Amino acid sequence: MFKSLDINDDQEKQSVEPTDVEKVKCLIIGSGPAGYTAAIYAARANLNPVMYEGLQPGGQLTTTTEVENYPGYPEGVTGPIMMEDLKKQAQRFGTDVRWGMATKADFSNNVHKVWIDNKTLIEAETVIIATGATAKYLGLEDEQKYAGGGVSACATCDGFFYKGKDVAVVGGGDTAAEEAMYLAGLCKKVYLIVRRDVLRASKVMADRVMKTPNIEILWKHQTKGLFGDGVVEGANLAKNLGEENEEEVKIKIDGFFLAIGHTPNSEIFKDYLETDDVGYINTVPGTSKTNVPGVFACGDVQDSHYRQAVTAAGSGCMAAIDAERYLSEKNA
Ligand code: NDP
Repeated sequence: MFKSLDINDDQEKQSVEPTDVEKVKCLIIGSGPAGYTAAIYAARANLNPVMYEGLQPGGQLTTTTEVENYPGYPEGVTGPIMMEDLKKQAQRFGTDVRWGMATKADFSNNVHKVWIDNKTLIEAETVIIATGATAKYLGLEDEQKYAGGGVSACATCDGFFYKGKDVAVVGGGDTAAEEAMYLAGLCKKVYLIVRRDVLRASKVMADRVMKTPNIEILWKHQTKGLFGDGVVEGANLAKNLGEENEEEVKIKIDGFFLAIGHTPNSEIFKDYLETDDVGYINTVPGTSKTNVPGVFACGDVQDSHYRQAVTAAGSGCMAAIDAERYLSEKNA
């Protein structure tokens, strides 16, 4: 499927063992909905894509229980099964899906270099970055303990399961405000746990939250732990943590939603690709093109706004089409 090894660069001969170098037309890094969709399109366009799945094969969706908002699954589907379906579809057209994590990149030349697991060097004519973003968690043991049992970092994905119930959202930014508003439309009561006495969210969002009758803001509260028999039944909070008037507060909830921000997984590319202040890769509006020709970004690593499986998949399709056109123009 791949071209034979062909190292022309003398320097490369000295620094890297030939068996550890591989040349590919299209390298896809990351295996969420964006990466797999890019792979389906790239494979069907004869780009012979090689995909490295990364640390969390299948991406963030594999931590979700049921996915009910992805078109084409009228009865819903679990995140892991949906990702397995996407993987099979990508492999059906010849995508070479491999275990491995991109650990270093060098986009300073026409041939883009990416190292896998600090060992294998891939020289790619095009690179599609679909490394996603990682939701931030508080770092409590209970977040792990109740993963899939009431703890979530995506209200749009999981909120529906808490219809008519009481939930809490942690955070005071725009995401927390949006998630609290979304959940308020479904749930009986939403606690918004805010660590300071102000919201970081934009004024318009903050006003909306404060005017929503079934949202109660717990100012200056922090979460110490969760409790429940197998699933979340409540949270132990501290009000005025570390101050003289610190007090313990217990709330009864069925769902605990983190909305304290995401970290885009763009660290290894930051020396070459333009990003925003947080690290989301900048793309030319309406395309997946980064500032480096031949390098494209799709999915949550370049989208701080929508962050949905279906939008990620759409942008993965764009990236593959952009890569295919880039190669056609280059080789014309
Ligand atoms: P932000 O970084 O803006 O906000 C994070 C929030 O989480 C802050 O209130 C912060 O508190 C709180 N927080 C962080 N760590 C902890 C912790 N350990 N314990 C408790 N609370 C914590 O992230 P967002 O995801 O909200 O937003 C990211 C960007 O995306 C922003 O620029 C935002 O404007 C934008 N966005 C825009 C939307 C829109 O326009 N519709 C929708 C969603 C996001 P503190 O304030 O005390 O630091």
